[in-house]
Amino acid sequence: MDSPARPQIEAWLRYFDDLGLSPFYLDRAAAELPAVLPPAPGPPVSARSTARPIAPAMAPAQPARAPDAALPVVPSLFDGTPRVEGDSLVRIREDIGDCKRCRLCEARNTIVFGDGSPTAQLVFVGEGPGHDEDVQGLPFVGRAGKLLTQMIEAMGLRRGDVYICNIVKCRPPGNRQPERDEVATCSPFLDRQLAVIHPKVIVCLGNVAAQTLLGTNKSISQFRGQWFDFRGTKLLATYHPAFLLRTPSAKSEVWTDLKKVMGELGLKLPKPRPRAG
Ligand code: URA
Repeated sequence: MDSPARPQIEAWLRYFDDLGLSPFYLDRAAAELPAVLPPAPGPPVSARSTARPIAPAMAPAQPARAPDAALPVVPSLFDGTPRVEGDSLVRIREDIGDCKRCRLCEARNTIVFGDGSPTAQLVFVGEGPGHDEDVQGLPFVGRAGKLLTQMIEAMGLRRGDVYICNIVKCRPPGNRQPERDEVATCSPFLDRQLAVIHPKVIVCLGNVAAQTLLGTNKSISQFRGQWFDFRGTKLLATYHPAFLLRTPSAKSEVWTDLKKVMGELGLKLPKPRPRAG
């Protein structure tokens, strides 16, 4: 194909290959690049949806695992946060105001509240804003964010179908990890956001989000991909997209985790890749 879009399309195909998604991209490619790639076996592309809102769950729900008895080793910051009567995302943002509750306010440019559908069935929780997020005031808009958007789209969703937020709402200087007191100061607002949105599934991206919400200091590699219960909502932790940028070989594990989430949400799973020979 002679097109200026070719390098971009090739990069996407390599990315989907890394994720183990070739049947998915072949379907898409069959629609977009009929002269280049043979159509994938199976129903015609028009019969499939590549981007749609989260359907009401049709798949049988897996029983939520209670947190592994050995997992919570520090008290969860979220236990005991009082519920706010008639709460809403607008009210939470108003309550945050021009926040000066912790030292993160000193170097931040913008408070990054969260972004996406207020009625999302799926919420992604990251660690904290980076440089691009601090400038734009939106979560996950830098390189890691672009990868997160690709992951969401690989699930057959659009970014606007889900809700994306972070453990802390202000950029830690130099992208250091947020300190425990900063997390403790900010987390009641996240807790309220999660209570208002009341998603079906929460996905924690990376150690900080997972350890904070689950109240553990175990490494995410020991419990990623397992279901936990977070205040009555199913929660699964997977690797952070920034980690995937450094370690592309971990993409297949993340894709395995995201397929579990898709199953839980009743989203259509891609057909398994046919075995050679
Ligand atoms: N990393 C995060 O954890 N959150 C963002 O918003 C961006 C990068």
